[in-house]
Amino acid sequence: MINKAWLPPDNMGQRCCSTGRLARFRSAGVSYLKGARVLGFLALVFFMGVFSVASQTGESRARIYERDNFRYLESNGLPDHDHGEFPNAHNPNRIRQQQYRFRMALSPATRSQSIPLGRYLFGVALNGVPFDPGTAEFWNRDPRSGWRYEAMGSLDLGLDQNHAHVQPDGSYHYHALPVGLISHLREENPSGMLLLGYAADGFSVFDDRGRADPMNRQSALSSLRSGYRLRTGQRPGGPGGTYDGTFIEDYEFISGSGDLDECNGHVGLVPGSDTPIYHYHLTGSFPFIPRCFRGEPDPSFQHRGGPPGPHPHDPRQHPPRERPR
Ligand SMILES: [Zn+2]
Ligand SMILES: [Zn+2]
Repeated sequence: MINKAWLPPDNMGQRCCSTGRLARFRSAGVSYLKGARVLGFLALVFFMGVFSVASQTGESRARIYERDNFRYLESNGLPDHDHGEFPNAHNPNRIRQQQYRFRMALSPATRSQSIPLGRYLFGVALNGVPFDPGTAEFWNRDPRSGWRYEAMGSLDLGLDQNHAHVQPDGSYHYHALPVGLISHLREENPSGMLLLGYAADGFSVFDDRGRADPMNRQSALSSLRSGYRLRTGQRPGGPGGTYDGTFIEDYEFISGSGDLDECNGHVGLVPGSDTPIYHYHLTGSFPFIPRCFRGEPDPSFQHRGGPPGPHPHDPRQHPPRERPR
């Protein structure tokens, strides 16, 4: 488990997370010191440009602790792995430090009715980066159209190699399996189930590997299948065309068709627990990150600042553009 020493914000060093950038930063500084006027000036401009990039990111900080029947996760929201360039052509926002303090129940209970994601983040990864699968991009930019774009579909929202991108407030967040985090965790645990983080209702979140028979420790691990499938045929209205995963509404849940329930969870044995417990999995196909809760989400996971709604992506900031096929 990642459980890093937490430093208060004034102790956070501003350093670049990419060694490539650091090398460019150094070479720019050396050129300037050589004193050739034009070169020096160009180097200074370059230096300042690189510095502005370097100062946008910093060291990832995350701390997990337990108190009074709750688990807390405090973080600055910065990824602890390589990430894509932001802003980019399809995501205009820069990664900025956040001040997260998430709280979740240590002994969550399941409800008879699931709760839709609504205005909540789904959860948070062990490195302090939120799981935030929703979007606010609608067909025709009309929230009443009933057709909401899926970030992992054909609409290009500038996701990086970790299926992540950046909100207008600078928060880096995952829309599917966090590839960089998983490769870090795999160094310690090459083949087992990986605890990736926690949902807002307190249940644990694992990667896509699980047991086909979750109650049997001897059952082999394999990639779990969600119970969601693309609908067949043509969309009856709105954007028309074939159901192809561009929109969330292109999918339907078929009970029993996969290994998991409609919230991408199930009851089973997990590492560190002697008795079967409810837990979630991320999957390689829709919903990628669960879109509902089996327990009660904690208010600390509500989107901050924005109006009520599943996701404060501002459609004006990344207007819908179909990805060329
Ligand atoms: Zn997003
Ligand atoms: Zn499982």
